[in-house]
Amino acid sequence: MDLKSVRNIGIIAHIDAGKTTTTERILFYTGKIHRIGEVDDATATMDWMDQEKERGITITSAVTSVFWKSYKINIIDTPGHIDFTAEVERSLRVLDGAVIIFSAIEGVEAQSETVWRQADKYHVPRIAYINKMDRNGADFYCVVESIKEKFKVPPLVVQIPIVSEDNFNGIIDLIKMKAIMWTKEEDEHAFEEKEIPQVLKKNAYQMRNSMLEMLANYNNSIMNKMLASEEMSEEYLKEAIRESVISYQVVPVFLGSSKKNKGVQNLLDGVCDYLPSPMERPAVEGINPKTMEPVSRKSDAKSPFCSLIYKIEIDKHLGKIAYIRIYSGTLDVKDQVIDTTYDEKIRISKIFIMHSNKRLEVERIEAGEICAIAGIRKSLTGSTLSDPKHLIILEKPMFPEPVVSVSIEPRKRDDENKLEIALEKLQEEDPTFKVLINPETGQKLISGMGELHIEILLDRLKREQNLEPRIGKPIVTYRESIRTMSTGNFELNRIIGQKSVFAYVKLKIEPNKKNIFKFENTLKKDMLPMEYVKPIEDGVKAALSNGILAGFPVINIKVSLIEVRYDNQYSNENAFQFASSQAFKNALRNNDNFLLEPIMKLNVTVPNEFVGNVINDLNSRLTYINGIESESGREIINCEVPLSEMFGYMNDLRTLTQGRGIYVMEFLQFMEISKEKLPKVKESLGIY
Ligand code: GDP
Repeated sequence: MDLKSVRNIGIIAHIDAGKTTTTERILFYTGKIHRIGEVDDATATMDWMDQEKERGITITSAVTSVFWKSYKINIIDTPGHIDFTAEVERSLRVLDGAVIIFSAIEGVEAQSETVWRQADKYHVPRIAYINKMDRNGADFYCVVESIKEKFKVPPLVVQIPIVSEDNFNGIIDLIKMKAIMWTKEEDEHAFEEKEIPQVLKKNAYQMRNSMLEMLANYNNSIMNKMLASEEMSEEYLKEAIRESVISYQVVPVFLGSSKKNKGVQNLLDGVCDYLPSPMERPAVEGINPKTMEPVSRKSDAKSPFCSLIYKIEIDKHLGKIAYIRIYSGTLDVKDQVIDTTYDEKIRISKIFIMHSNKRLEVERIEAGEICAIAGIRKSLTGSTLSDPKHLIILEKPMFPEPVVSVSIEPRKRDDENKLEIALEKLQEEDPTFKVLINPETGQKLISGMGELHIEILLDRLKREQNLEPRIGKPIVTYRESIRTMSTGNFELNRIIGQKSVFAYVKLKIEPNKKNIFKFENTLKKDMLPMEYVKPIEDGVKAALSNGILAGFPVINIKVSLIEVRYDNQYSNENAFQFASSQAFKNALRNNDNFLLEPIMKLNVTVPNEFVGNVINDLNSRLTYINGIESESGREIINCEVPLSEMFGYMNDLRTLTQGRGIYVMEFLQFMEISKEKLPKVKESLGIY
């Protein structure tokens, strides 16, 4: 397929804005499904995990390919809940464009702001879709205003609603200057293009003029045509809008009611007309891992192969499968590629394109596409797969920190092994999920992005592995750091099996505020065989994930290798990795260590009448309030709060606001725990 006709998109929305319903309609209109499933009766196709159906939310990033007119649209299903930011980030990284859905009732919710900012970070061109226009109280222009107020890139209104007596009857297309009406009773999906009703013409021309004026800001040719009062054809205008969308100058605004089957076909046209093809995206940048020179790859089937793994899944029959975005080149079954992140050769055993949870096997796939592959081993989310002759490693996506933990232990002794393996699998699939061990108490903790994230992981253990471990109350995942410089060494000199092994490592550690972790080798080449440097660094990294105070990860630290002793006959890489982990732990023991806690950015939106109660409650949670904004009857409170004060907040806020308050919380930074609070924290962790 010609790459010009491919669109890789994500549909992003605040929970309940109508993402699942809209996706369902897209699958229906593109012929992927023959019956419309309703979210409310849990038959929606994209929500294929049982638990998603039960909760009515979408959390996995399955990808599905649909055909619309002469275009192929790959839809990556992005999650809507903030606990799954890692998945949103991962999928944004591989998208070429996004549709952001807003509800015409609730407008721009705090969560939509978060994803909008994430889309900014990854330079994803987007279009907005204002859904639920059929609902009483739907206010298209108010949502457009708040998009204008809240975001840097301005909304470009390309359609306006036709509403009479509170009924949403149709849409005026400001490009074609036609009215789109759904008038056939026997077929509610069919629409007709009609003349714009006389009474609406004046407003329609005014709105078209505003649209042209905004475009003229970015486009001289439009400016000139406007000045000369020249006609502008549909094709000409679409091309001009497309250019502005791709260069992040405007966000075209569409509207409809997905539930009532109105507007989704026009939205699909918009995706094809305005969002970029893979060829129109900037080349991806990376480095050559051998020479460390920067390299880039244009989106072109003829360039060397390069792709990024954005999701790993463990399949019952095939084992590990990876979802990849191919940025350049082609991939055939049986090809050998290199995972440059783990420096490992991989033979591709199968390639699939996806439709929801069904896979279709194909022999070859080209640049610009998204697919799933089997045959990987070590690779993880974020790995680059590269042509072996033209190496490239792309920057890894950045993941937020896991901040909530619960203790976990098997109910039966027999389950111990099974649980261990299951947790390992989950860690492979999800880089924001971690298993930690408290060295003092030996207790095992699982750590994730939020309470809901952990709940869902536990749910999966039950459904997929029939495991129901005993779990504790949620607690904060703290971090450990150091205050001064210290050194630590370790000598391994043992007989293991029939063989002697020897390694000696001495490390220096010091605080490193700006960096989470830095490793430096201060030794010259003649002082140690270079092949031992990496195992020594790996040994430190392994020990970093479990600090000595309570087993939490160690951060803000610089580690230098300052002395090594080895034996030509008895030393090996494993011995050095082990000795290095131990030397690092010894260095930690010789330091002044302290705990840090996650501070969250919190955004609470409440109707005016509840704001006093909500603020009093926030104050009792040691919250620092940055500001309060008023907006049409609501107050938006922006603040910073220690995560430890926020467990159960969802219910508390509900009680305080009669169910009308909402909040979004995301990780901001780690800060040292205050002296006043420390004794309580230590007690809860079993350290004295
Ligand atoms: P998601 O959480 O963003 O995936 O939202 P859903 O698609 O699950 O929709 C949330 C609720 O809004 C469901 O009860 C839908 O039936 C309803 N809904 C979705 N779109 C519309 C619409 O256009 N009009 C109306 N009235 N309700 C809608």
